Amino acid sequence: MNADEIRERIDSAMSKAGRKDKVFFAAVSKTRTVDEMREAEKISWVDYFGENRVQEAESKRKVYGASRVPWRLIGHLQANKARKAAEIFDTIDSIDSQDLAQRLNRIANELGKIIPVLIEVNTSGEESKSGIDPANFPALLEAVMSQENLRLEGLMTVGPITESEREIRNAFATLRTLSENARIKTGLDLPTLSMGMSDDFELAILEGSTLIRIGTLLFGPRDYTRNP
Ligand SMILES: *Cc1c(COP(=O)(O)O)cnc(C)c1O
Repeated sequence: MNADEIRERIDSAMSKAGRKDKVFFAAVSKTRTVDEMREAEKISWVDYFGENRVQEAESKRKVYGASRVPWRLIGHLQANKARKAAEIFDTIDSIDSQDLAQRLNRIANELGKIIPVLIEVNTSGEESKSGIDPANFPALLEAVMSQENLRLEGLMTVGPITESEREIRNAFATLRTLSENARIKTGLDLPTLSMGMSDDFELAILEGSTLIRIGTLLFGPRDYTRNP
């Protein structure tokens, strides 16, 4: 693991951005074994695990035992997995429809819990990406806010696949602007702006990210044929 090198790059991006606040770090542990995850958890500045499949996370959580860091769902959530997700994740970052918000709220109510959530926005317009279209964001914002058992903590996006730094920064700036406008409109805090992965986290930090999600840089290349 290149933990020291990652830390240096984060710190240097923060100082380049003139920022003195904290950027949180999610170790994206999809496809990684429980042993690899235990190693990552030892790094003091790892704040979360990020998983994108409910089933994989469920089987790992069973054997993991007590975890110092909360687990976040960062992948698309299908309606039929919502109950399981509500049971095993501490935070759900991929709310992308009113139906999902309502369903999750109903389940959270039945489970007697309040679930912290993020709204995922598709800021790049790439069809392969999940997330709500920015044009439909205001309606989803209202719908999520009206769910008593969901606590909206912010927004999340995945940057576009391109070499163009300008396009990547534009996507991240779009998320930041949506968040700022939502804060003004609702009076909510919305502290979390989750954007930035191994290839683009420095640009995300420059655009105000408060939570970066790093897999490859921390653990090495992913092997999807492996089933941890
Ligand atoms: C896989 C994944 C990441 C981490 O990607 P890396 O490029 O390996 O850092 C971050 N966010 C989401 C939503 C992911 O699915």
